[in-house]
Amino acid sequence: MRDELLDLAGALKDHILSERESRSGVSRLYLKGDLGALYPVPPDTDDPERESGVVMSVPSVTLEDIRTELGDCTRCKLHGGRLNIVFGEGNPHADLLFVGEAPGRDEDQQGRPFVGRAGQLLTDIIKAMGLTRDAVYICNILKCRPPENRNPEPDEIAACEPFLVKQLQSIQPRVICALGKFAAQTLLKTDTAISVLRGRFHSYHEMRLMPTYHPAYLLRNPGAKKQVWEDVQMIMKELQQES
Ligand code: SF4
Repeated sequence: MRDELLDLAGALKDHILSERESRSGVSRLYLKGDLGALYPVPPDTDDPERESGVVMSVPSVTLEDIRTELGDCTRCKLHGGRLNIVFGEGNPHADLLFVGEAPGRDEDQQGRPFVGRAGQLLTDIIKAMGLTRDAVYICNILKCRPPENRNPEPDEIAACEPFLVKQLQSIQPRVICALGKFAAQTLLKTDTAISVLRGRFHSYHEMRLMPTYHPAYLLRNPGAKKQVWEDVQMIMKELQQES
C-alpha cells in the first residue's frame, strides 16, 4: 500500500511540475492520509488547509529556471553588441532588490550588475544600510548593454522586461529600490519625472517600491546624495517594521 502511495505521489509531483512548466499556475496539491507523513507540511505555511494534510508543495519558478528560459537571448537588437548577458546576482530570497537601467561597459565585460564606478557607489550605499551585496539582489531592466550606454528603447524594454518581472515574482522582495528614471518609469508604467516619483513608496503588485536617483547620476550630481540617503532611510525603516 505504501509503495502504491509513493507511486501516486511521484505521479502527482510529475503532474504538478509539468503543469508548472506549462505556466498553468498550479503549484501545490492537497492530499490527506498517510502521505502527510511522507511530505510534511512546511511549518511556516499560513495556508488554512494546512491542518487537513498538505503533502506536496512545488516551489515557484526559480531564478535558474528563468535564466535557462532566457538562454542565449536574441529577443531584441541589443544581443548583437553584447559581450555578456547580465542577468543579476545576489540573494534569491532577498527582502530588498535593487533594479537599475542596463549594464554599462564594465558590467558587459564581467557579466555582473553594478561593478563599475556607479556600482561601487551602490555597494557603498548598501554597506551604509548595514547590508552586503550578498544579502540583497541586484539587476537591471535590460540585461544587455545598449551601444555607447544610450538610453533603452521601448522595443528593448518590451522584449526584456518580462524576464525582470519573472525575477521579481520568484524573489518576491519586500521592497524594490528602482534606481533612476528608466527603472522607476518602466516598473510604474508612468512618465512622471524621477524627481517627483522619489521620496515615497509606490505599490508594485504586492511589493513596496521606492524610486531614487541612479548612482551614475550621483557621480555627476553629488548634491543629490542627501535625497538618496533620505530614500534609503525610508527603505531601512520599512524593512525593520516588517521583520
Ligand atoms: S536586452 Fe534582454 S531581450 Fe534584449 S537580447 Fe538582451 S536579454 Fe534578450
